[in-house]
Amino acid sequence: MSLKDIFCQDKAIGLLQRARSTDKLANSYIFAGNDGIGKHKTAVEWAKLLLCKNPIEENNFADSCGQCSSCKMVEANSHPDLQLVYKELLEFTKKGKNKKNPVQMPIDVIREFLVEKVSAKPTHSAKKIFIVNEAEKLNPSSQNCLLKVLEEPPAFCTIILITSRLDNLLPTTKSRCQIIRFGPVSEDKIIHKLTLLGLTAEKATYFARLSQASIGQACCWATLENEETQLYQKKKELIHLLATYKYQDSLDVAGKFMAAGKQISAIWSKLEPNTSKSDINRRTSTFLIWIIISAMHDVMKLEMTGLEGTINSDQKQQIKALKSRFTPDQAAENISQLYKSLKWLEASVNEKLIFEQMLLNLADFDKMTV
Ligand SMILES: [Zn+2]
Repeated sequence: MSLKDIFCQDKAIGLLQRARSTDKLANSYIFAGNDGIGKHKTAVEWAKLLLCKNPIEENNFADSCGQCSSCKMVEANSHPDLQLVYKELLEFTKKGKNKKNPVQMPIDVIREFLVEKVSAKPTHSAKKIFIVNEAEKLNPSSQNCLLKVLEEPPAFCTIILITSRLDNLLPTTKSRCQIIRFGPVSEDKIIHKLTLLGLTAEKATYFARLSQASIGQACCWATLENEETQLYQKKKELIHLLATYKYQDSLDVAGKFMAAGKQISAIWSKLEPNTSKSDINRRTSTFLIWIIISAMHDVMKLEMTGLEGTINSDQKQQIKALKSRFTPDQAAENISQLYKSLKWLEASVNEKLIFEQMLLNLADFDKMTV
């Protein structure tokens, strides 16, 4: 893997390349854009290039060599001059023993893994790089703690904040960084990629549309599908349930969503043994809530554009049934409620309660059950 292998982010990488070739690289960057479109991969590959001992230049495109001691260490995740900063480092801070899975980025992580480390000179390469993941989870006091280093980092330092929600960063943070925007990846390109991974055209189209232009997310689902999670079959069953259930069945249907989630999480955990079980459960529940959101989007879309272009174009009958149960306004209201459920999930509210409340609410709207 190197910079040239990153999928469909030529514009963002081009900006960095031009800055490098004209010697105008900034010290502090924000990589902004939706989840799963290559921001983190680009940051790591960019760091690899900046740290590389023998960078390769070809047609005005610089890339890491992949062979030197520095490149090898970046690939092994053991480079002493590359620090990845993420909220789960909390348990490795001085006072963080046994503290796991924080919701926000803890200030101690920023202080101990970034602020206190910036001034020490690099030990292996000429540069030192910090990559802060999920920067939208930096609360104002963590951002204030960062301000000074963002403003005047030592010349050998590069700091990259990665965020999917630029609005969550304070104006004072943004003004001290150069912002590189990462654009969405086109649906056709994602579908093509998923078929290369072995999915049928029908499945590839569904996952590409559900991912909302997030190639990383779509590929992750494709991998799960290939691992016998039956993600696609489950979504079909859940959409069918959603289109037909009655108010009195709400808790039962919530149980079916939870059971599907449990099966998916079990396989997902095996694929990612280093990710905590609660994070995997949260990702699975997010996927399941996205299935419901997609159905509500389709109810709204059906009114405007017809079945073509809906996310669940493979379940026409069920989307039509949902359309007869919800007006477009009700579907829009449902979507805003579902987004609230996603927020509760992030805030670690009990998942069973979230699903039960969600399905009771959805049935409440249902004209057929009144
Ligand atoms: Zn190298």
